[in-house]
Amino acid sequence: MTNLKPIVEPIVEIGRLTAELVALAQISEAEPPIVTRIVFSEADLRARAYVKNLALAAGLAIREDAVGNTFLRWAGAEPDLPAVATGSHIDAIPNAGAYDGTVGVLGGLEAIRSLQAAGFRPRRSIELVLFTSEEPTRFGIGCLGSRLMSAVMTPDHATTLRDKEGRSLDELRAEAGFIGDLSSVTMPAGYYHAFVELHIEQGPLLEREGLELGIVTHIAAPASLRILIEGEGGHAGAMLMPDRHDALAAASELILALEAAAKSTGVIDTVATVGVCEVFPGAVNSVPSRVRLETDIRDTDSARRDGVLAKLRSVAKEVAERRGVRISLETVNADPPATSDPAILNALEASIADAGKTSRKMVSRAYHDSLFVARFAPAAMLFIPCRGGVSHRPDEYASPEWITTGVEVLARTLAQLAQ
Ligand SMILES: [Zn+2]
Repeated sequence: MTNLKPIVEPIVEIGRLTAELVALAQISEAEPPIVTRIVFSEADLRARAYVKNLALAAGLAIREDAVGNTFLRWAGAEPDLPAVATGSHIDAIPNAGAYDGTVGVLGGLEAIRSLQAAGFRPRRSIELVLFTSEEPTRFGIGCLGSRLMSAVMTPDHATTLRDKEGRSLDELRAEAGFIGDLSSVTMPAGYYHAFVELHIEQGPLLEREGLELGIVTHIAAPASLRILIEGEGGHAGAMLMPDRHDALAAASELILALEAAAKSTGVIDTVATVGVCEVFPGAVNSVPSRVRLETDIRDTDSARRDGVLAKLRSVAKEVAERRGVRISLETVNADPPATSDPAILNALEASIADAGKTSRKMVSRAYHDSLFVARFAPAAMLFIPCRGGVSHRPDEYASPEWITTGVEVLARTLAQLAQ
């Protein structure tokens, strides 16, 4: 915490920002107020054009990379220094709302404009980043742009991505005007001095506790597994119990073992879910011969999360032997969690004190582009409340007051980090 006078008093124009959020929400593949903006759709491209025009009007320089990540730069007095960045995404899953991601993009732009209006002159450049395809809707994997920026995903892997119609990422990005080698998307270490993402909480805690801001100290990351259990099918009447190798009975042991393993860490941050259970042949008079499970295991600590995974694997081995079934576990993805940068957390706390706002520290249980940015730059996130904790729905809502507070604190933080 600082006792010094704040370096700037940002002038946030919430009327302008609210109008822009409304205008952006109108750019949708679905009938407003439903927001659907799948990456590289006509709506996505129109929404990108809308944001870029606003950025141009604010005097920002535009750069786009080969996958469509867009960098809108306010040049600092010393433009060769590593820049300070903020940003988020404007793509939206089907049947979504107006605030997820967009608050971090248009709010980030307003933060820059509020500093310009206050006469602030940054020493480091300040960059607003619009990440491509944070949502997994089209290609089945989230945070595509930031995964490539951080080299967590290789260009070779990206080249294999296809949408449901079988169209490749390369084909679709070229059609959208983003060409060039995907290896050029990788960001060099040291490119950013700091990155702060403003986002709605997507959970109920801030509103419930009457707090204005959440300082995100950790971003939990999911490990996702596909589990296939193969037993022996047969007639539900004729196959006697001692002879059975029931795949669903084996699966149910795994589901309960996973729940117990997550609870056994004794830490609230460990969560595990089996969200898909497909039973073959799925007939009432037939012993299940095959079951496919999909699981999502998250934690803020990768060792603890991997401990849960290890328990699940050992139970799977034991169940397979005892019940005479085959169990295979395939890891779909296992991204490491991220820890926020302490210097940025300090800057956020000082800014919140300067602005006289209330806050708490918290964990982000949803994951964000910041998870991947944290791989190549010091990063942190700032949450504002959203009504009822609701997101990914048309009735998603953040009040102008909440947004103003988020933008003001973001602006103060960017100014501190860029001075
Ligand atoms: Zn988001």
